Formats: sequence, structure tokens, C-alpha cells
Amino acid sequence: MEEILNLDIDENRYSRLELIPWWNQELLHNSTIMVVGAGAIGNELIKNLALLGIGKILIIDMDKIEQTNLTRSILYRMSDVGKYKAEAAAEKAVEINPDVRAIPLKANIVTDIGLGVFRKMDVVLGGLDNREARLSINQFCYKVNKPWIDGAIEVLNGFARVFVPPGPCYECTMTENDWNLINKRKSCALLTHEQILEGKTPTTPTSSSIIAGIQVQEMLKLLHNDRKLPTLAGKGYVFNGLTHDSFVVEYQRKDDCMSHDIYEDIKEMPWSARDISIRDVLNQAKKDLGDSAILEFDRDIVTIATCSCGHSKNIFNVVNKLSNKDIVCEKCGKTMRFETFHSIYGDENFLDKKLFDIGIPLFHIISSRSGLKYIHYELSNDKNEVLGGLFE
Ligand SMILES: [Zn+2]
Ligand SMILES: [Zn+2]
Repeated sequence: MEEILNLDIDENRYSRLELIPWWNQELLHNSTIMVVGAGAIGNELIKNLALLGIGKILIIDMDKIEQTNLTRSILYRMSDVGKYKAEAAAEKAVEINPDVRAIPLKANIVTDIGLGVFRKMDVVLGGLDNREARLSINQFCYKVNKPWIDGAIEVLNGFARVFVPPGPCYECTMTENDWNLINKRKSCALLTHEQILEGKTPTTPTSSSIIAGIQVQEMLKLLHNDRKLPTLAGKGYVFNGLTHDSFVVEYQRKDDCMSHDIYEDIKEMPWSARDISIRDVLNQAKKDLGDSAILEFDRDIVTIATCSCGHSKNIFNVVNKLSNKDIVCEKCGKTMRFETFHSIYGDENFLDKKLFDIGIPLFHIISSRSGLKYIHYELSNDKNEVLGGLFE
């Protein structure tokens, strides 16, 4: 009897994937993907990215692993309890596939990640459970013209939505109820990080793997964009886990949506947030745009806090980064009032403060404007400190 031997010496880890006609493994190896949130959905996203050989994976999460995570997190073991999610997840990704680089950032996505980081990504994947963080990711991605894919699960149900600038965005999909929930929380008091994260949603490993699977599959199609595959851009996949019905919804782009700002003219500057002052940036803007140039930050910054008892204190930090300690008066215990700014005109008495010292994250992009003309300056010298592990 003749024996048929398969001696194909070209077989490698990716050979079965490469049987897919449109597959480009080299493209995937050269791709950079951000995963925001290393919880139930994030674990499934990262697992898939590692299996597929996505070359550069950035994992953002500021929380530590608790025992309750172990029922929905393939990457974590009992011995990981107490470790940072982002660190443990990055380690496991490389263990699954040594071809990938994965780096963790223990950071708050709303306040700590500079726009330059988003600009380096090919696609951003969201595995989050709150509207405020989704709204922030959405605005960051639009500003630097990057697609992002949101995943959401609750008990057995879930959905995956794909947002590609300049199409419909996450904010375009928000209902009056979504806004009411956000505004209600904002009006109570200034939100601290603890309050933003307090929502706990019941989730299962089964629904997270279904939704994360759809997200990563959509990412693959976006990355292979020269293959003209159909995608869910501007659409949402809705999955009902009780009946296993699913359908696709199409979103409408709202012309009055506040999140469609795309930065056209970005200049990479040899600057770091740690050593460049507000004055330095304003001077550059005046040089480029003329004397009427002003700076416009994409976030509100608190200068001082004052209390009705007469006590006041310097803050100089981004509103969303304030802690309970900043908000409460240490003399009388009342909630303090804040003076904030987001534009700089040149007559402020704190122009010599470094950007980092007013709460601007490393590798951020700072906008300047004169009339309707904009220039955006990237703090490019921070790249290595933030992303060195991925790009060196
Ligand atoms: Zn929109
Ligand atoms: Zn007071």
C-alpha cells in the first residue's frame, strides 16, 4: 500500500489561517490594536488577537484582578488575583503566541491616554461597561481618524458596533435615556474615578466570547480593507441570548453630533508633556497662526477650588481626575466650587506651568486656533515612554 506523506515543510503556525483566500498574515503581524478594558470582553478580545498573531497589542485597564473575574476571564488564574489586569493579560497574550508584543498601560482611558497613542493604532477595540468611557474613546478615535469597535454585554444578550470616521459615531447612536443617565450623574457632583467605575453589570463568559468574536472578526475585515469585504461600519450587531435571534441595525449620522471633530493638520513636535510649558505651545501657535492664536484643550482643567467658608486651594488638574480629597473642603467638609478653563488666551497667570502639571497626559495632541484655522501639536517625544515596548 502506498503511503501518502504530508511533508510540506512550509507548514507553520498560521498555515490554516492562510488558506483563507483574502488572508494576509504579514499585515496582521504589522498591525497595532488597542484593547480598552481587560475584563470579560477584553479577555476574549486579547485571546483572539494573540491567536491570530496580531503583532502589537496595547492593553489598557487600571484595575486589579478579583476572584469574581475568574468566571469570565480565560487569561487569569487564581494565582493572578491581586495583580493588575492589564499586566496579567499582556503576559498571557505573549504566552499564547510568542510572535506578538503586548504591553499594558495601567491607566484611565478618559483622562490618562494621549491622543498620540490613538493615532498609532490601526483599530481600537472596546470592552467597557460605562457610557462615559465609550463617549471618550469615540471622541479620541474621531479626532485622529481611527475606527473603533464597541462591545457590550448584559446577562445573555449583547451587541457589537463598528464606528468608522466620518460615518455615524457612538454619540450618534445615543438615545435620550443614555444622555439622561450621563447628565444625572454629572449634575450630582463632579464625578470621581471611583464613582464612574461603580456600575457592575452581570455578564457571562459565553456572551462575552460571542460578542468579542464578532468584534475581532470585524477588525480583521477592517484591517484587510483592500479586499473590500462587507463590514458593520456604521452598524450594530444585536444578539438576543434567550432566543439566539440576531439582527443588524444601521445607524444614522447626526449632523449636529458633537463628536465628529477630525484633526486635519497634526504637527509632530519634539516635545514632552513633562517639560513643555503652556507658554511654549502658545508661542509656537502664534508663530504658525499669528498673534491672535489661542490654545484649546479638549478637556476642562480646574485652576482653584473655593469654599463658602472662605477656604481656597490650587488644584491645576483635569476635572475628571479630581479625587474626593480635592472636592471636599478640609476646613468645613462642604463641597467646593471650581474655576475651570479649556482655552488659553495668553494673559493667564499660570502660563509657565508644564502641560503634565495641569493634568495633560503624555503623548497628547494640543490644539491651537486662530479664527477658523487650526493646527494640532503632537507631544511626540513622549512616544517612547508610553509605547516604547511596542515600537522599539
Ligand atoms: Zn456622531
Ligand atoms: Zn469650607
